[in-house]
Amino acid sequence: MNPALNEADSPFDLALRPGDFSEFHGQAKVKEQLLVMVEAAKMRNEPLDHVLLCGPPGLGKTTLANLIANAVGSRLHTTSGPQIERAGDLAGILTNLQERDLLFIDEIHRLHPSIEEYLYPAIEDFRLDIIIDQGPKARTIRLDLPPFTLVGATTRSGMLTAPMRSRFGIPNRLDYYSAEELRHILLRSARLLGVTMDEGGAHEIARRARGTPRIANHLLRWVRDYAQVKAQNIVSEDVARQALTMRDIDESGLDEMDTRILEAVIHKFEGGPVGMGSVAVAVGEDASTLEDVHEPYLVMQGYLKRTPRGRVAMPAAYRKLGLAPPLSGQADLFG
Ligand code: ADP
Repeated sequence: MNPALNEADSPFDLALRPGDFSEFHGQAKVKEQLLVMVEAAKMRNEPLDHVLLCGPPGLGKTTLANLIANAVGSRLHTTSGPQIERAGDLAGILTNLQERDLLFIDEIHRLHPSIEEYLYPAIEDFRLDIIIDQGPKARTIRLDLPPFTLVGATTRSGMLTAPMRSRFGIPNRLDYYSAEELRHILLRSARLLGVTMDEGGAHEIARRARGTPRIANHLLRWVRDYAQVKAQNIVSEDVARQALTMRDIDESGLDEMDTRILEAVIHKFEGGPVGMGSVAVAVGEDASTLEDVHEPYLVMQGYLKRTPRGRVAMPAAYRKLGLAPPLSGQADLFG
């Protein structure tokens, strides 16, 4: 077990987190690239290059950081962009690192620009220049750091500053999982939780999980409770369907907010184009949550389209809400 525990995760999430690359299903390309990097670093007996992991929440960025640390046999220190408020916070973290440790910074796009400035020499030359005192008495102290690896994770690679992005090699982009991949993950989780579930049950949960392992595991948790009370502890396709229908989990995996977004775009903004800021006000949610969590899935599933003038509802969105897509006028927007 890795020494680093991510406090944001519940004991339930942690219990199901893969402990080894072989238990990490899906994201084949990212996995393969990371394994090559790990192997190369080991062969050269050098610290691993800095790694950037991008993708929506719940797809496995923190898990991968843990797996990389295990694979190179290093300690993982976990923090996040918003947690590092002052240069002193960063200095505290960096000066605690030992040679070849991994520093995982989640939501790295939310690092304060002044903190980024301190981070650059730390990750390039393994030194930290701290300014102490102010005015004429101000002076800089230089600290040498042990060679370490920065693993940055972001849900919004577009918001990373260009200098920050250039400090990493090729970014590793995580995509939503297919229902088939989620089915594998769910069968493993069921085994770990001691739940009896057949392939049909796993498939039924998988296709409603928004392509996201964290959501799949959370749905399984509910289905497990339901099966315990109503179905002698056995999760079949029917039992999974009944359990998920009871909680209004949509057949196509959309959650309540996804549906409200589509309703707002279609009913309040005539199908768009509309900016996410306006949609956010209409649905009473933070714009960045809509852009991090909801929009990428709706775009990937073909419900929304991004255009230079804003988001446009696609025919699938109208059908989803039981409406007929507009025939003319907006047809050019669907493109
Ligand atoms: P992120 O950091 O991208 O938000 P996490 O790494 O915290 O996502 O993953 C959320 C949960 O989903 C983890 O607790 C883990 O159990 C599970 N998980 C994520 N990816 C996988 C995978 N490929 N295989 C199995 N479980 C996974």
